[in-house]
Amino acid sequence: MLKPQQQAYNQQLNDCLLRKKEITLFVKREDLLHKHVSGNKFRKLYYNVIEARNKGYNTLLTFGGAYSNHIAATAAAGKELGIKTIGVIRGDELGENLKRTLHENPTLGFAVSQGMRLHFVSRKAYRLKTKPDFIANLFQLFGKFYLVPEGGTNALAVKGTEEILTPEDDAFDYICSAIGTGGTIAGLINTAKPHQKVLGFPALKENFLHNNISKYTHSDNWELIRDYHFGGFAKIDQKLVDFINMVNRLHNLPLDPIYTGKMLYGIIDLIKKDYFPKGSKILAIHTGGLQGKDGMNIRLKKKRMPLLI
Ligand SMILES: *Cc1c(COP(=O)(O)O)cnc(C)c1O
Repeated sequence: MLKPQQQAYNQQLNDCLLRKKEITLFVKREDLLHKHVSGNKFRKLYYNVIEARNKGYNTLLTFGGAYSNHIAATAAAGKELGIKTIGVIRGDELGENLKRTLHENPTLGFAVSQGMRLHFVSRKAYRLKTKPDFIANLFQLFGKFYLVPEGGTNALAVKGTEEILTPEDDAFDYICSAIGTGGTIAGLINTAKPHQKVLGFPALKENFLHNNISKYTHSDNWELIRDYHFGGFAKIDQKLVDFINMVNRLHNLPLDPIYTGKMLYGIIDLIKKDYFPKGSKILAIHTGGLQGKDGMNIRLKKKRMPLLI
C-alpha cells in the first residue's frame, strides 16, 4: 500500500484583497501527502496499486509526456512498493540520445532513477495509445502488466480522489481544482455536499472534458471555468511566473506552473471580478505537481525569462 508521508491540511491565505472582498480562502495541501507521489497522483494510484497487487501483477505500465507528473509519481510509487514500472513516453526523438535526454529532462531522469523503464513512441503512435492494436503490441514487447491510463484516470482513481474532501470541509461553499483528464474533479464532485459548488479550471484548451467528467459522476453541482489555461497545456507567460513567485513569497505556498498556479491565478482573478458573493468560503485543492517546476525553469531559461522560485 502507498503510505502518505504527511497528512494534507488546509492552509488559510490572508491578504488585503480577501479582506476587502470578505472572502475566506483556504488551500488543501495535498502536495504534502508524499514527496514524490504527490497530490492527486497519490490518490489516483492508491487503489490501482492495491488492485494490481491483488491481481498478481508485478509491473505497472502507463503513458505520459516528457514532463508528466503522472510518470514521475508512478515511477516513485513502483520503487516504494517494489513493483516494476514502464513509462510509454510521447516523442520518439527523446529516445535517440537517451543519455542526453535523461541529463536534460529532470522528470525522465527522476523516473529512471526510480527504476522505471522508458519506451519512447512517436507523437503519431502515441495518439493511438488506447487502441487495442497498440496495446497488444505493448503486451508483445513487455509481457504481462497492469495498465494505468494516461493521467492515471479510471474508476479506481476516482475512488481515490473521492477521499480528498473530509467532513471538516463541509463548511466551504466552493471547492476548486485544476483539471487535466478530469479524474480528480470527478472525485470531488461525487463527495461535495449539495450546498457546495465544484469549480474546475482546465489546464488544456481542448473541449473534451464534459464527457470525461460525466462518465464518473452523478451530480451536476459543478462548472468548468475555461478562461485560465494561458494559451494551452504547459503554456506560460511572465504574468503567471510573477504570480506564482509572489504567492510563494507572500504566503509560503509553492504552486506548479501547469495546474495549480493557473487555478489559483483564476480564483484570485474571479475574486477581483466579484464572481464570488461576499462571505463566500473557498477551498482550493493543491493537487501537487511541484516536480514540474524544474523542467519549466529549463524552458524559461532558454527563453531568457525570469525563473520560478
Ligand atoms: C495530473 C494533475 C492534475 C490533473 O488531474 P486530472 O485528474 O487528470 O484532472 C491536476 N493537478 C496536478 C498538479 C496534476 O499533476
